[in-house]
Order: sequence, then structure tokens, then C-alpha cells
Amino acid sequence: MNPQPESAKHARLLDGKALAQRIRDELAAQLAGPLAKHGRAPCLAVVRVGDDPASEVYVRNKHKACTEVGIESRRVELPASAAADALKAVVDALNADPVVDGILVQLPLPDHIAAAAVRSWVDPTKDVDALHPENAGLLAAGEPRFIPCTPAGCLELLRANGIETSGRRAVVIGRSLIVGRPMSILLSLPGIDATVTVCHSRTTDLAAVCGGADIIIAAAGKPELLRAAHVRPGAAVVDVGIHRVADASRKSGWRLVGDVHPEVAEVAGYLSPVPGGVGPMTIAMLLRNAVESFQRRIEG
Ligand code: NAD
Repeated sequence: MNPQPESAKHARLLDGKALAQRIRDELAAQLAGPLAKHGRAPCLAVVRVGDDPASEVYVRNKHKACTEVGIESRRVELPASAAADALKAVVDALNADPVVDGILVQLPLPDHIAAAAVRSWVDPTKDVDALHPENAGLLAAGEPRFIPCTPAGCLELLRANGIETSGRRAVVIGRSLIVGRPMSILLSLPGIDATVTVCHSRTTDLAAVCGGADIIIAAAGKPELLRAAHVRPGAAVVDVGIHRVADASRKSGWRLVGDVHPEVAEVAGYLSPVPGGVGPMTIAMLLRNAVESFQRRIEG
């Protein structure tokens, strides 16, 4: 890692917006260049069940990002009342469709549909979210087919900013299947080589554990949980959390905050902002997974 001098008063920005744009430009160039000769664009299908407003924004952003780089984006919408069987039929049809390269079932799902079951319905070779048990197993075995988008985005942020992971102490706060768990596995893989500690809701002394870390990935889903007192001076902090909180001083009446309190910027060496940090990187990694899937499929 390039340690930030301890006298520095403000963390360097881990700018996910700019990095994501660079990655999207690279993908667009790939699709307009060598990959264009294959006569079709990559196709990513996004399935949404119900009308969760946050999901609608995520799906719209993914659609826009796909279109911008030259990926065909197919949206399938089912009502909140749709039965699990109806969702399975949609996923089966997308699995069987030869021009669909990636399939993503947007979470959260309505309560009557078990996300655990849905994860194993998606063809693992089209599972760009990398949630299928086979893909989770391949990641744990150190032979990932796809890397889950948010952990992949966090790692790219560290790499692109020259933050060394090898031999460093990394703390991942959160153990969800979509962020914390794969993040902790990824950081521990050979070639990345961090020494990883995973914290979760039963961790008793978060400050003591985080205080020894060179790298902290905050993915607890708790607004501004990580405070300056948790962070060793100069540490790199990646804020995965995203929350809408009331703010009467804003015209909108709300603002976005992460899992990291703003005071951490006075202590950390590096910090990713919310918004503009992990969020755009997650989408860029989804696009990259879709293009990789397309490439594998056209090359047989
Ligand atoms: P989750 O609720 O599934 O998991 C949260 C994890 O944090 C759990 O494992 C829990 O044990 C742990 N946790 C909760 N309270 C804790 C505490 N006080 N101390 C230590 N650990 C604690 O959430 P998730 O799906 O992993 O998402 C986490 C956050 O990241 C959410 O805010 C979510 O909105 C955000 N997110 C952002 C992106 C993005 O692209 N920016 C993508 C996915 C998730």
C-alpha cells in the first residue's frame, strides 16, 4: 500500500465514478473493435419481480449502462404477485435462449419467493451476479468463473489506486452472500493475499478488530456505523453501504449516506465516497461479466 502520511488531514478519494467510466469506455472499445465481428452484441437479461422503487432505479441504471457500452439489455418484469413457478419459467426460457449471455434476477424478491432457490435456477454459465452455488464454490476454490460484482468493484478500486493487498490486514464488515462473504474470499485468494478477518452482527468489539486493519470494507448495511475511532490512521476504507436518510436541508428532503461516518475521512488514508464510489463500480463489473460471458460463449 502507498500509506497516506499520518499528518494528512483528509483521505484520498477512491473515485469509483471516474474509474467505472474508464472501464466502460474500455468495454465499449472492445465491443466496437475485435468483438464486433461476431455479428451480435452481448445480451444481458434483468428480471424484476414486483415494484420495489429502489430496484426500479437499479434496473434502469443497469439498462442505461448496458446501452452506452453496446450491450443489449433485456428487461423482464413480473408483478409482485407472480408465483415462484412463473419466475422459474422466465429464468428457464432465458437459460435456453442462445443469444442471452447473462441473467440477473434483481433482489429483493417478494417474500413468497425464496432467493436461495432462485440462485440455483440461473444457468451458472450465464450467472453474471455469481450467486449460483456452483459459482460461489468456484470462487472459494480459487477458480472463479464470475466474480460477484460488488466485491470485484471494491477490489478494482483498491488496485487502481495502488493500494497493496498482499500481506495486508483486511477487515470485511458483513458476511452476506452478495457482498461480505465473497469479498472476504476474494481478498484471501492467492495473488491478492490479504490476511482477512470477517466481522458480522455478532462481532463483539468492532473497533478493536477494525483498529488493526490496513484495509476495511464496510458492508454492514448500517448507516454511518464505522466511526473515526474504528480506523487506524492511513488505512484504506471502502464504503459499500448505501442508505437514503432524511435531510430537511435538502430540496429533495433526503441524502445518500454510506456505512462509513464522514469523520473517517479525517483519519483514513483512502476513502470511497457515497455516492460515486462502489455503486458505479458494481455496475461496471456487471458489464464486464456480461462481456466476458459473451466472449466465452462466442468462442465456444
Ligand atoms: P445484508 O443486510 O445482507 O448483510 C449485512 C451484513 O452486515 C450481515 O452479514 C450482518 O451480520 C453484518 N452486520 C450488521 N450489523 C453489523 C454490525 N453492527 N457490525 C458488524 N457487522 C454487522 O446487506 P448486504 O446485501 O451485504 O449489503 C450491505 C450494504 O451494502 C447495504 O447498505 C446495501 O445497500 C449495500 N450494497 C451496495 C451495493 C453497491 O453497489 N453500492 C451493492 C450491494 C449492497
